[in-house]
Amino acid sequence: MRCMGGAEVVKLPGWVTLLRAPNPGPMTLDGTNTWVLRAPGAEHAVVVDPGPLDEGHLARIAEHGPFHFILVTHGHHDHVEGAARLSELLGGTAVLAADPRHGVAAEPLDRDEWLGAAGLEIQVLDTPGHTGDSICFLVECGGERAVFTGDTVLGRGTTVVAWPDGDLGAYLTSLARLTAYEQVVMLPGHGPARADCAAVARAYLDHRRDRLTQVRAAIAAGADSAEAIVAAVYPDIAPEVRFAAVWSARAQLEYLRRESQAAPEQLDPL
Ligand SMILES: [Zn+2]
Repeated sequence: MRCMGGAEVVKLPGWVTLLRAPNPGPMTLDGTNTWVLRAPGAEHAVVVDPGPLDEGHLARIAEHGPFHFILVTHGHHDHVEGAARLSELLGGTAVLAADPRHGVAAEPLDRDEWLGAAGLEIQVLDTPGHTGDSICFLVECGGERAVFTGDTVLGRGTTVVAWPDGDLGAYLTSLARLTAYEQVVMLPGHGPARADCAAVARAYLDHRRDRLTQVRAAIAAGADSAEAIVAAVYPDIAPEVRFAAVWSARAQLEYLRRESQAAPEQLDPL
């Protein structure tokens, strides 16, 4: 995976603690980032993405309690698998997620809802695309803002559009939305924190547009399946993440199919 925007060392806001889950891998980078948010002097904190069902990791999170609630960015197991168990360890703390299948003791989050927690103002950002249920959290504490992006944008490399649950058109719209957060610290689901959410989102948009140009060229040269697209556009893909490239190629083909339906006058009449 190539680096989107260069390496940098970003100091975390003082109200944020990173607890990284011990699940490194080709899709999870160094492991899932579990974030604990606590305003200065506040008794209760908030958790973003409890991560996998790993008892040691969940016990470490629980030591940072008590919590108002546990937030989930999306339903992939490396983010949400431990949520119900963490809730249980904490004596029933609510789990708030956009997808009702992942909530515990709470209604599903409304997209663009505001949540209050001691000293923290939390806005849900509706950012589908990586998955249908992907959301981000824009959090302000003491005049300082940070965006928790889950897998919508990562600290390094690129992310996957997990077709058919994910959707490339929705994903491009979500990336455009994240370009609004100039110089706002970005705290992703995997990889390091980044200083400027907008810059990372713009780099992802450029990357996606470059890929679509490559896919259009591959189709023009005769590629007629996701497998053929992967062979043409991702020739050096590592075997362990090849399935993700196939998902992305399917998402790209679906996006281009809809684009051609939406603009039939651009089609060759023959
Ligand atoms: Zn994910």
